[in-house]
Order: sequence, then structure tokens, then C-alpha cells
Amino acid sequence: MTITNEILQMIKQYDRIIIHRHMRPDPDALGSQCGLAEILRANFPKKEIYQVGGPVEDLAFLAKMDKIPDELYQGALVIVTDTANAPRISGERYSLGDKLIKIDHHPNDDPYGDLLWVNTEASSCSEIIADFAFAENLTLTENAARLLYGGIVGDTGRFLYPATTSHTLQVAAKLLDYGFDAVKLNRELEQITLDVAKLSGYLYQNLQIDENGAGYVFLDQAILKKYGIKDSDTAALVPLPGTIDVVLAWAVFVEQPEGYYRVRLRSKGPVINEVAKRYHGGGHPLASGANAKDQAMCQEIYRELQVLCEKYQKNEIV
Ligand code: AMP
Repeated sequence: MTITNEILQMIKQYDRIIIHRHMRPDPDALGSQCGLAEILRANFPKKEIYQVGGPVEDLAFLAKMDKIPDELYQGALVIVTDTANAPRISGERYSLGDKLIKIDHHPNDDPYGDLLWVNTEASSCSEIIADFAFAENLTLTENAARLLYGGIVGDTGRFLYPATTSHTLQVAAKLLDYGFDAVKLNRELEQITLDVAKLSGYLYQNLQIDENGAGYVFLDQAILKKYGIKDSDTAALVPLPGTIDVVLAWAVFVEQPEGYYRVRLRSKGPVINEVAKRYHGGGHPLASGANAKDQAMCQEIYRELQVLCEKYQKNEIV
């Protein structure tokens, strides 16, 4: 039996299915979670299907969350999408169900769940959900296709990042045929507020870059307040240093109201997720996140990036 078969068999055994995703959702988290929910609703109209988790912030144009009482977890199947580590699952109640399925595309550092499908070759978890639907001949609604397409566009940086394969493009092409308004969706995903645009200017002006292309910038609370920006608005800023020719790998340190720093690491070459793992984080080889308790720890992380960039430039590592 294939893994898609196994997952479908388990889904068929339950009348109630509750789908979770990671905290601070991005388009792929919501696309995979709510795309799967839409597909299950369309194919199994008698089952109760819920999509749950914390605030979706400015991604409400993609989907909204269901609010459900604890009792509904009793005897339910829980599916978690796009979430590598159990502590990052949004909604602690994910463990209250009868069985748990993990579907993800991050390195499988925390293999939680009774049934797991982890495909690190996939550009996005939304691509995996689309693969599932196509492999099992499930009906896709227009909105399911929109959600999955949005997730793929989000996680591939509009098909630019190296995780984009010919298969990714084939899946995206099939999804486009479902007739949703892709122009509108792309605009919703790409447009930024004037405040974020102004903060981009600050980021470019203040980015520090060493001779090997290691870059960093601090976005502290004073700066975020000055530009009227919340942590959730910073997603659009994180890829920007990568558009600079001399930048090879970079860190964006975003100070949180509690005082610690959210660390967002990206790379065009050296693998950086091992650094992230050493600082309570993880993620993909070229896109990871971590946490640092103060500026000194951020500087430590930056020094690790500098060493990686130096070795990479000298061809000592890949
Ligand atoms: P971000 O910079 O938050 O967009 O995260 C980039 C990637 O790193 C995503 O794929 C996340 O799943 C992963 N990531 C971010 N923060 C953490 C964390 N604290 N622990 C594990 N993985 C993380």
C-alpha cells in the first residue's frame, strides 16, 4: 500500500477530522491545512472536518479558523500539516485525538504521530497535499486549488527558490486549471503595506554585510514601533537581503515584545539549519528559524553564519 493509500484509509475510518498547522502561519501552513480540509469536505460530505489554530493575522484572505470545544477531539482523527516539530504545532489539543497523522516537507527531526508522510523533496506541504489528492483521484474544489496554489507560491517565493522542481510546476499548472482568480491571489500574497515598504528602506540601509557575504540586520522594538509594524508583518522583509548580489547568507533578528529575538535565517549557498537547531530552532537547509534570548546570542549566531560563509567561499563546505 502506498502512503497516500494508507492516509486515505485512515481518513475513511473517522467521522470527525481536525486539521492543525504550525504557529504563526504562512501561506503554505494555511494552504496545506485548509486545502486538505476543503478536499475532505468535498469528498466526504458526511464527515465533520475542522481547521483549527491560532490567529491567521493578515492572511485572512486565504482562510479562517474554526473554534471547537475540547470534547470534539474525543474519537477524532487529527492531521497536522507543514509542522516539523510537535512544540510548533498551533493548538496544544492536537494530542487529544484518537490517532495523529503528520504530513510535512521539513527535515523529519521530530517524527511525531501514528502515521507520517514527510517528503523533503517537495517545495511545500501544499504540493504534498495536491499530490495526495491527485494520487487518490479525489475531487478538488476551486477554493482547494486556490489554497494549495497559494501555499506553493508562498513557499517557493513565486517559483524562485531552489526547492521548485519541474514537478512543482506541473502541480501548479494542474491547480491553475481549476479556474480560481490567480491574478487576484498573487496580488493578495505579494502586496505590502506602505509601512512595510518604508521599513524595507530601513532594512537595506542598515544591513551589515561582511567580506564573505554574511549579512544581518536587527529589527528591534523601537524600530518596529517607529514604522508601525508587528512581527507578523516582517515576513515580506526576510527575503530582501537575498536580492543583493554580494549577500550569501543572512539573519534578520526581530525583537519580540517579551524581549527575546526571533531569528530568521536564509541562505543562497551554505546550509544553515544546523545553526538554527543549536538555538532552539530548525527548518530547511536554506531557510530556517530560531530564537535568541538577547543581542549577544544574536551576535553569536551571526558569527556562526560568518564562519559558514567563509568556508563556503573557500570551497571547504557545500
Ligand atoms: P521563518 O523564518 O519563521 O519563516 O522560518 C523559516 C523556516 O524555519 C520555516 O520552514 C520554519 O518551519 C522553520 N522554523 C522557524 N522557526 C523555527 C523554530 N523555532 N523551530 C523550528 N523550526 C523553525
